[in-house]
Amino acid sequence: MCLLCDLKSPAADAPPPALAYPSPRWQARRAFLLAAGASAAGSALAQVDVGSSSSLRKLVPAETLETSARQQYSQVLAEARSKGALAPEGHPQLQRLHSIAQKLIPHTAQWNSRSRDWKWQVNLIGSKQINAWCMPGGKIAFYTGILDQLKLNDDEVAMIMGHEMAHALREHARERLAKSQATSIGLSIASQLLGLGQLGDVAANLGTQLLTLKYSRDDETESDLVGLEIAARGGYRPEASVSLWQKMQAASGNGGPSFLSTHPSGANRIQELEANLPKVQHLYEQAHKG
Ligand SMILES: [Zn+2]
Repeated sequence: MCLLCDLKSPAADAPPPALAYPSPRWQARRAFLLAAGASAAGSALAQVDVGSSSSLRKLVPAETLETSARQQYSQVLAEARSKGALAPEGHPQLQRLHSIAQKLIPHTAQWNSRSRDWKWQVNLIGSKQINAWCMPGGKIAFYTGILDQLKLNDDEVAMIMGHEMAHALREHARERLAKSQATSIGLSIASQLLGLGQLGDVAANLGTQLLTLKYSRDDETESDLVGLEIAARGGYRPEASVSLWQKMQAASGNGGPSFLSTHPSGANRIQELEANLPKVQHLYEQAHKG
């Protein structure tokens, strides 16, 4: 579900660099959070600037989608297990993933308060695929291909993991699925269904779409920046976000990582990350002082 993309796309197609400056929308949201004294405010206030989530996503209830994702995740694990491809608990690479996740998870709730109740899971699947993803509700999978073929160090793994967590935290799958529902059945009908409380039944069938879902370039930019911040707060070197994507880009010459087919990026991905490194550098330093 969450992999890279179309690195060769012309820059002209890339979204405007809206993240370079706080949008009025995001400033308003920050003001609201501060006024409300929400837990997202205070010392944990975000350093990267991303907009507010689309309200359209509410067409698909979060609880229903998380339930669908849980079922789909179990199926993926069962299939891997049946092929002997699911890493056992003591596998060194799986332990490595778990210890990275433990450092990132404490920094996720500020991006989605529902995630406080998520049961995060991380599994490792033996496959040559250069791939990793996080389903709604915090269900993460890494494929051995992404670790081995890109020879990722811990900082780079943390950047991928943060990026994937950000897709789930910012509810990008929910938004994509809501938009496809709205398009296919019509907004007015969707609204009626929502009023009748029946859209959840539609959403219950959405789990199977999660593995092939393509994110938008805006979603990718948002996940890059939110993931960068989460990883920096967890104590991982911000510059690793740049080396990670350089490695991914280099690998795209060999037929392309499957990651890239579902994670479209604009040509400016690396420049955008570089521009944001100074915003999170102090978070990385604080994590090491603490
Ligand atoms: Zn992505």
